[in-house]
Amino acid sequence: MGNSNRPTVIAGNWKMYKTIEETISFILECKPLIKDSTAYAFLAVPFTAVRAAAVTAKQTPFVIGAQNVSDAAEGAFTGEISAKMLKEAGARFVIIGHSERRQIYCETDELVNKKIRRALQEMLQPIVCVGETLAQREAGKTEEILKTQLDRSLHGLTKDEMKKLILAYEPIWAIGTQKTATPEIAQQAQKFCRQVLSHTWDPDSANQVVILYGGSVKAENAKALVDQPDIDGLLVGGASLSVESFSRIVNCQQKKNL
Ligand code: PEP
Repeated sequence: MGNSNRPTVIAGNWKMYKTIEETISFILECKPLIKDSTAYAFLAVPFTAVRAAAVTAKQTPFVIGAQNVSDAAEGAFTGEISAKMLKEAGARFVIIGHSERRQIYCETDELVNKKIRRALQEMLQPIVCVGETLAQREAGKTEEILKTQLDRSLHGLTKDEMKKLILAYEPIWAIGTQKTATPEIAQQAQKFCRQVLSHTWDPDSANQVVILYGGSVKAENAKALVDQPDIDGLLVGGASLSVESFSRIVNCQQKKNL
């Protein structure tokens, strides 16, 4: 499937790094370096920095978001944060179902599904992560795992809701390991994800969904990845923490324009 009309999104996932002051400095330093890029530069910052990031990012190419959200609207859920709170603080998107949430905090596809619905209700764009472990890949189960994660995580969404998502294929064996998937491996998996969306909804709608690759992306391998037809951008962890490497990744290609 072609990628003609899909925007390019380079999303940084800062995890539990950067204070408010560090966030503001990053945005101010990075802004002039990415001014000519045609890609959207998303930053998933820590909760505490969402407001300051959103204010600092006004009139810049940055789109600010968060890394997690509660499935509940509000209530007695100590330590949780709601979609409405994130929206009010200035977030425009939220990462849902990152493998660190799935593995460390035991988040299931069913919970991911509820979080997606909650985010969409508050008009926060979900970036939904899926991906297989090394053992699953070596056992030849990658497609089965991706299909199950997609079917369950996106269960019951309308076509219009599905088109509002961004998907991120993040093979768990590639996250934080310096073992990037080859462009061919990532393309094959992402093409498969689009086929699953196409069967569940329809080819035209599936063709509109932005699908990112994530897993040890660096400035050196970014271009080869986004040059693949089903890779519409990148979800970047470690390399999004430095202005130098993140700006190089945002600028990695000028081909897939809006
Ligand atoms: C991530 O956390 O989503 C990620 C891809 O991390 P890294 O780029 O560090 O592998």
